[in-house]
Amino acid sequence: MQTQIIDGKALAEKIQAELAQQVEKLPKKPVLAVVLVGDHPASLTYVRNKTVKASKVGIETRLFHLSPVMTEDALISFIRELNENAEIDAVLVQLPLPEHMDTARVLESIAPEKDADGLHSINLGKLFAGHPALVPCTPMACLELIHAVCPSTEGMYAVIVGRSRLVGKPLAQLLLDAQCTVTQAHSRTKNLKDITSQADILISATGHGGLITKDHVKSGAIVIDVGITKNADGHLTGDVDRTSVEGQAGALTPVPGGVGPMTITMLLKNVVSIAMQKV
Ligand code: NDP
Repeated sequence: MQTQIIDGKALAEKIQAELAQQVEKLPKKPVLAVVLVGDHPASLTYVRNKTVKASKVGIETRLFHLSPVMTEDALISFIRELNENAEIDAVLVQLPLPEHMDTARVLESIAPEKDADGLHSINLGKLFAGHPALVPCTPMACLELIHAVCPSTEGMYAVIVGRSRLVGKPLAQLLLDAQCTVTQAHSRTKNLKDITSQADILISATGHGGLITKDHVKSGAIVIDVGITKNADGHLTGDVDRTSVEGQAGALTPVPGGVGPMTITMLLKNVVSIAMQKV
């Protein structure tokens, strides 16, 4: 079988062009505050990418690069000031935070209406209650990528490997809302292959490079690879062993160039939607 490689970069560019048109109609540029604590090398790259893409869409970013030795309470006070600042439409705290900080407590300090990542418990609660407002970016990116190759997912069987607050849990809700039957697997799941190989849609979000091989994939399935790890050569790779799975899957997202660019785009979409609410 010929596996369709889903071009996340091209889809991201198309959606970004649509967002740019929406921004042009706004009375002022949306402003996104990006809070970066410390000098985690991958975070520096992610923040740079987000800033460049935001600027192309017409969103102004203000970067606050803070010391890794600051206290959690000082960071929370800083975020509260951003919440109060009328010039700032949306706030993003780049993860991971330094180890001495409680990530959940920091994320809860972002005003829910400025929560660009959609990870505040109020926004997650609205998603689970059926009134989604700001939706977490990576799960939304996965759904868009699935719909790009399969516009109706009604009745399909989706298996998600991973159950984090960032990806797995909200994605399960989005897929339920998209009329799928959903199973969630994790590190304690027994006989993973038996479960994943039944899936019409398989999403892997573990950070375990090469976990998903041909044997895990039903013939013709849509496979979305969220994982990002570095292989022995220092190259970025996903959870899916692409060489093994190509020819078995019907469609597959590459790493890089799949979920990553779409995640940034969904962040920009949230920022634009916050700014549009104010008009
Ligand atoms: P977490 O570490 O928070 O969660 C990983 C999940 O995978 C957990 O639920 C864990 O199970 C499960 N898991 C780990 N190993 C296995 C295994 N061998 N078999 C089955 N399940 C397993 O990670 P995140 O959700 O934050 O991120 C997951 C991956 O996605 C990472 O590689 C991350 O870099 C990437 N990512 C990519 C993004 C993008 O834009 N492309 C955005 C966000 C994340 P348990 O709960 O039992 O521990």
